[in-house]
Amino acid sequence: MSAEEIIAEIAKEVSVCVKCALHGSRKKSVPGDGPASAEIMFIGEGPGFHENEQGHPFVGAAGKFLDQLLAQANVTRADVFIGNVVKCRPPGNRDPLPEELSACDTHLEAQIDAINPSIIVTLGRFSMNKFIPNAKISAIHGQMKKVGERFIIPMFHPAAALHQPQLKPAILADFAKLPNQLQQARVALGKRDVAPKNAEEPSADKPKQLNLF
Ligand code: URA
Ligand code: SF4
Repeated sequence: MSAEEIIAEIAKEVSVCVKCALHGSRKKSVPGDGPASAEIMFIGEGPGFHENEQGHPFVGAAGKFLDQLLAQANVTRADVFIGNVVKCRPPGNRDPLPEELSACDTHLEAQIDAINPSIIVTLGRFSMNKFIPNAKISAIHGQMKKVGERFIIPMFHPAAALHQPQLKPAILADFAKLPNQLQQARVALGKRDVAPKNAEEPSADKPKQLNLF
C-alpha cells in the first residue's frame, strides 16, 4: 500500500472506530486532512462543534485563525497534514480523557508512520505532551526539538491565542519562524541538500526570501 492509501485506510477505520466512548456522541469523525507526502504535520487537540458537523479539522473560528497563521508563514493547507490527538469530538469540547487519548493514539501513530513528516507542530498541550511529557508550553513554544526521527515544534493552540490576546504576538512569531526551521530540519535529516553552492548570498539589508516548497 502507498502512504496515500494507508492514510485513506486509517480514515476509514476511524469512521467506524468504537475504541473509546467518544464514538457514541460523534456525528462525523475527523481523521485529519492533507497529503501523505506532507513535510509538516500539525496536530491539534480534537474536533469541536463545526469539525464534528463537517468531518474536517480546524474549520471553525480556531481554523480561520490557523489559516491566517499558515498564510503568513507562506504555507498552504494543501501542503501540510492537519490532524488531532482524538478523532471524535469530546462532548461540549471538554478536554480529552487519558483513556481516550491512549485509545486514539494508535490511529495517530499510524498516520505519523505513513506520512513520516520532518516536522510535527503540536498545537496545544495535549499534543505537545505526547512528544514532550511534562513540558511547559510557555517555556518551550516555538523551539524545535529533535524527538526520534523528526523534529517537534510546540506551539500555542490557535483557540487559546484567540481567547487570550496576549498570546497572539508569540504564536505569530512562532509561525513566522517555520520556513527557516523547515530548512534546518531538512538539512539535519538529510532530506534535502543545503542551498546550492552558487546561490546568491543573502545580503544583510534584504533577507533572502525563503521558499517553503
Ligand atoms: N481545535 C482542535 O484542536 N482541532 C480541531 O480540529 C479544531 C479545533
Ligand atoms: Fe476511536 Fe479515536 Fe474516535 Fe475514540 S476518538 S472512537 S479511539 S477514533
